[in-house]
Amino acid sequence: MRNRLFWAVAALLLCRLASAQETVKAYPSNWWVGMKHSSLQIMLHGAGIGEDAKVSVSYPGVQLVEFHRVSNPNYLFIRLQLTPNVRPGRVPIRINNARGAAVRLDYPLLTRRSGKGTSYAQGVTSADFIYFLMPDRFSNGEPGNDRIPGMRDQSLNRDSMYFRHGGDMQGILHHLDYLQGLGVTALWMTPVLENDMPDRTEHGYAFTDHYTIDPRLGGADAYLHLADALHQRGMKLIQDAVYNHVGLYHFLVQDLPERSWLHQWPQYTQTNYRDQPLLDPHASAIDKKLSSDGWFTPQMPDLNQGNPDVAEFLIQHALWCVETFAVDGWRIDTYIYNDLAFMNRCNKALLDEYPRLSLFGEAWVHGTANQAYFARNHLDLPYKSNLPGVVDFQCLFNGILPAVKDTSGAGVNDLYGTLSNDFLYEDPARNVVFLDNHDMSRFFSEAGEDWSALRIGLSWLLTSRGIPQLYYGTEIAMKGFSNPDGLVRMDFPGGWPGDRKNAFSREGLSADERSIQELVRKLGLFRRGSSALKTGKLMQYTPVGGSYVYFRYDEKQTILCAMNTGNKPVRLDFSRYAERTAGFRKGVDVLTGASYSLEQPAELPGRTMWVLELQ
Ligand code: CA
Repeated sequence: MRNRLFWAVAALLLCRLASAQETVKAYPSNWWVGMKHSSLQIMLHGAGIGEDAKVSVSYPGVQLVEFHRVSNPNYLFIRLQLTPNVRPGRVPIRINNARGAAVRLDYPLLTRRSGKGTSYAQGVTSADFIYFLMPDRFSNGEPGNDRIPGMRDQSLNRDSMYFRHGGDMQGILHHLDYLQGLGVTALWMTPVLENDMPDRTEHGYAFTDHYTIDPRLGGADAYLHLADALHQRGMKLIQDAVYNHVGLYHFLVQDLPERSWLHQWPQYTQTNYRDQPLLDPHASAIDKKLSSDGWFTPQMPDLNQGNPDVAEFLIQHALWCVETFAVDGWRIDTYIYNDLAFMNRCNKALLDEYPRLSLFGEAWVHGTANQAYFARNHLDLPYKSNLPGVVDFQCLFNGILPAVKDTSGAGVNDLYGTLSNDFLYEDPARNVVFLDNHDMSRFFSEAGEDWSALRIGLSWLLTSRGIPQLYYGTEIAMKGFSNPDGLVRMDFPGGWPGDRKNAFSREGLSADERSIQELVRKLGLFRRGSSALKTGKLMQYTPVGGSYVYFRYDEKQTILCAMNTGNKPVRLDFSRYAERTAGFRKGVDVLTGASYSLEQPAELPGRTMWVLELQ
């Protein structure tokens, strides 16, 4: 009945583009000429659009390859082949049903952005410094969008950690000077795609429409504006991608194209949150299936990427985002829970189109070998990942955290040992190193609110190999254990009018908080001009008596980093490091300006890290 009505209405709207677009939506909403991905699948969604549908397309350089329906008549999938010489314009797609009713869509084929690889899709490398934030919690630049009529989540209360707080991309735009002043060169936000869920919308990981930017964050206009502003400053944009799941209120779930779009279980079945079954030669099939096909949460249905239509939908969306929003880096959420064969296909499509784009996956796993399994590695295994880099959880859990927490000084052996396993990766410099994020306890809290631990941690972060990522607020020692996770997602002080404490102006910050922010600023800016820290090699020495010394170096510059995490001072005999100190006479502390002669031993105080530029 509903479908018959639709066709009656559709017939009236014959060839009237504006009306047809209100009724039928196309995904992707546009494409471009001159893309390597020239075999385009358009998914049409509209009441009854797939019923008895016949499709015709007439446009020079565009060939209709096939079209198919799925079990839900509200969808129709059309495959077009674009020839290399196709011109931009509007491609008329005509859909007729058996009763002679017709819908016409004029599908936009646009001209591509200029500057691929230089002004967008540039890649985020170890020469960059990433600032990671949650837009809802950083700064409210536009109170008018705090609540959007018609959206499911109408909460707005900064006193509640799970309600919306009103932060948005305009707020970030207001504070790009602050970020740049810290030496930050790349911005990564938790996802900005629409999350029209009833609650818990602060994190952004439950998409409800891939082709809409959340209006509470400012929508597509604000996102484009932010990308432009970053690029004008020589900064870069990282998008947070989620392929594994969608939000329960996604139209694809509410009006499911076909059962096989989701991983179906007889009753709700959660992932086991384990990485081991995916790589364990002794794993059972059911454990493996639970890892990959179990749902992340009841609110986040698990997409079946083995369905070719799902795979195409996701791949094209990734390409569409990079081209539309001028993205430079691509962070992939819940990487290990995806279909890994699909991930290789998807990564390849992005890298074929954008060879300089950086990809890094969230591989929250248990062990360096496990982590390397999900990245490009030197292992001779049946499954070869093509993912360039990962978020380096091992350097945190089995590295800097044990190092700073153990006041005997012995913890640095974990950090040293973890980095010695870098032989597994094709290029460990592509890994993203970090101290904390939106899912885990704040580093300062984890380290017992010990200021020396935070100073050492940040000094390590900005001098270690890989791409450093700072979670918002860690530069002013924000606290919180991630139990529950809302406690590590507090508002950035100064982001809202009337905030008593303001990290931007430093008003209301304690002396300790200011000193941490100053440390980040000094090291961040120093790093920006330091070839050794940005692209140099790493050489580390076996820790002795609680001291751990490593060098970052290239032909132009040598940086000596010395960490003493124990309570007692240690004697540093520089002659031990002759391999790297030869030709230099002194080391100058990047933070204090103090100078140490390399010709005699120096005393490194307890709970201290030096970053010395050799001269
Ligand atoms: Ca707002």
